[in-house]
Amino acid sequence: MENIKTKVLIIGSGPAGYSAAIYTARAGLNPTLIQGYQAGGQLMITTEIENYPGFDESNSSGAVLMEKMEKQAENVGVDIVMDAISEVDFSKRPFICKTDAGKTYEAESLIIATGAGAKWMGIPSEEKFQGFGVSGCATCDGAFFKGVPVAVVGGGDTAVEEAIHLTKHASKVYLIHRRDSLRAEKVMQEKLFANPKVEPVWNVGVEEILGTEKPNSVTGLRLKNMQTGELSELPVEGVFIAIGHKPNTDLFTGQLDMDNDGYIITAGDSTKTSVEGVFAAGDVQDKVYRQAIVAAGSGCMASLEVVKFLG
Ligand code: NDP
Repeated sequence: MENIKTKVLIIGSGPAGYSAAIYTARAGLNPTLIQGYQAGGQLMITTEIENYPGFDESNSSGAVLMEKMEKQAENVGVDIVMDAISEVDFSKRPFICKTDAGKTYEAESLIIATGAGAKWMGIPSEEKFQGFGVSGCATCDGAFFKGVPVAVVGGGDTAVEEAIHLTKHASKVYLIHRRDSLRAEKVMQEKLFANPKVEPVWNVGVEEILGTEKPNSVTGLRLKNMQTGELSELPVEGVFIAIGHKPNTDLFTGQLDMDNDGYIITAGDSTKTSVEGVFAAGDVQDKVYRQAIVAAGSGCMASLEVVKFLG
């Protein structure tokens, strides 16, 4: 077992993690950043970046932005480790964090930036057809649905973004929503509804994903009208679930104070958690804004607080 001592350990490699890493490295703290299994975080599966100042569709995708952040962190001397933390002990300092690869980090301070991940509907047929027509990522899987009808479930920015992306591949994109209005940004909604391939299906919930077995493949959706209870079937070959996100905090259960949705609780105007010396930045503690630029800002805040904490 390899034991490594570090002044600052950063867990997570999205905008919050890299910003915290760049700032603490430039403050001379030689941080170590553990990337986790989805290096780059949620932006890696975002197509176009139109709202991160300095980056737009002319010069960047989410993946390009994250590659630049990683390169910048590397250039300022951050020790970037491709591994995942599997166990933590915050009961005393230094904090102990064990990795999947069998390493143990002893950290004087910690910045948690593990972000959030996609939520699933939780119906049995969704799990059965995952990877066989059911997906949580249009950017990753959209190209498998060339010239066929697909559905996107959800009414937020993610659902609208996924639906717009899918119009590049699919013959038809149904947007399935449980209410009769979307919560997505107005400008995105206008772009969506201007596309002739898009058809919204309002006030419906997904009862079941229909399909065939051996090999598993999706043939449609059984929908239930939320107002009348009436059931209907919609033929589609792909279903993209975009119903929100869940913070990646299972690892910290029992060690840090969290709210009912599992978000780490931080002090007002701060990234301080319930354990002194442990800070949380980005989507893992932000259920309100959840934007890359906000996550980057909160990574910066965490690093400034770590600098102060370590004196
Ligand atoms: P949101 O929480 O904003 O939206 C989730 C959507 O899914 C809602 O419309 C909700 O319905 C619906 N929903 C939730 N649970 C279920 C369920 N069990 N069955 C059916 N429908 C369900 O999540 P998003 O992932 O869209 O966005 C998360 C955050 O990220 C937001 O702050 C968003 O602004 C941001 N974001 C920004 C982007 C950008 O600026 N380019 C891109 C993507 C995300 P209801 O409306 O009825 O609650």
